[in-house]
Amino acid sequence: MIIGGGLAGWRAAEAAVAGGASVTLVANGPGNSPHIHALNCPVLPEDSVEQYIEDTLSSGRYENDRALVEAMCAGSVSLKDEFPFDGTLIRPLGSTVPRCVSIRHAIGAIALAEIQARMKDKVTVEKRTVTPEEILERRRTAPGTIFIIATGGWCGKYDFSTNPQYLKGDGLLIAEALGAATRDVDRAHIQYEPTVRTEGPMRGIPVITTLLFEGARLLNQEGKAFLDNPRLNKDELSRAIFREGGSAIYDLTAVPEAKLLECKMDPAERRIPVAPAPHSSLGGIAIDPQCHALDRLGKIVPGVYACGEVTAGVHGRNRLGGNGGTAAMVFGAIAGREAAAEWNKRSRK
Ligand SMILES: Cc1cc2nc3c(=O)[nH]c(=O)nc-3n(C[C@H](O)[C@H](O)[C@H](O)COP(=O)(O)OP(=O)(O)OC[C@H]3O[C@@H](n4cnc5c(N)ncnc54)[C@H](O)[C@@H]3O)c2cc1C
Repeated sequence: MIIGGGLAGWRAAEAAVAGGASVTLVANGPGNSPHIHALNCPVLPEDSVEQYIEDTLSSGRYENDRALVEAMCAGSVSLKDEFPFDGTLIRPLGSTVPRCVSIRHAIGAIALAEIQARMKDKVTVEKRTVTPEEILERRRTAPGTIFIIATGGWCGKYDFSTNPQYLKGDGLLIAEALGAATRDVDRAHIQYEPTVRTEGPMRGIPVITTLLFEGARLLNQEGKAFLDNPRLNKDELSRAIFREGGSAIYDLTAVPEAKLLECKMDPAERRIPVAPAPHSSLGGIAIDPQCHALDRLGKIVPGVYACGEVTAGVHGRNRLGGNGGTAAMVFGAIAGREAAAEWNKRSRK
């Protein structure tokens, strides 16, 4: 049983079906995955898995779980053979080289649609909200069930956030009910998106930070540009805006129109009020590199797996841009594969 229908959940479903398991996927919405523009996959000759690991650790202030980072970065390499990336190559804040790849700036939605089409009729899909009580009841009545928790992050619990309200951390309660531990579920382990619209019908929608490399500026309430170095990490950028009173004007006057069109932005809109908003959760369910959920002593909880943004440890204190999608893709596939292997082992007994 997979709880969650974002990229992590669907990648897990595909891998679990490939491994011979019978899969039910339950989700109460599309999650954040359809918003993913681009994700990390080292493709340039001067790039490497080692450099990708170093960028991820340095962005995370070396508070990441190194084994998880190594698993993600190594697992990302095969993504370029699985998806027809279109040559888009973005350098996210905190990366030493351009590494964010995409398909038409919409890799999340495209990959999800592709996987769902491939899995049509192979997975039972239920659209509803899962509760910890239901899971405990299921464990009692169908003890052979293996659970994969892929419920995404928990930033939706904050009023001003880039996430939908239903992403509020249900998976953490489900994990705890099943005996798994959670960690770093606090304000210090939230990635703020620095430049989120504060006004109008698009309130809560981010304006991409890479426009700062294309001539965009951040202005304070007096209309003064206040960034000496636009190549800051997202957390440093958010802090810079908080220091200026908590909000800013994203001035796109100098950004070429073609660039704005490429980023699916209205070129007529040149001064956008923005503020940092909770965007990605960095803490969550404790896992090992095989996506087994771990208990408080670090021991594997049998029959429980977790993947994607609901887990802790991959991103440390600060998620490198593009790693949300890569983590969902890579760990989703690992969780599905490992869960199917456990399922097969149990069936043989
Ligand atoms: C606006 C925006 C843009 C982003 N852009 C990028 C980007 O360009 N690159 C990048 O790498 N990352 C990006 N991210 C981060 C990225 O979207 C996430 O890290 C990633 O999608 C997480 O995938 P997931 O499958 O773990 O969770 P999600 O895709 O969020 O899916 C969670 C699933 O769990 C379900 N669920 C939750 N609770 C329950 C419950 N109780 N019962 C049933 N179902 C439940 C939800 O309905 C949903 O189906 C962006 C995030 C946002 C908000």
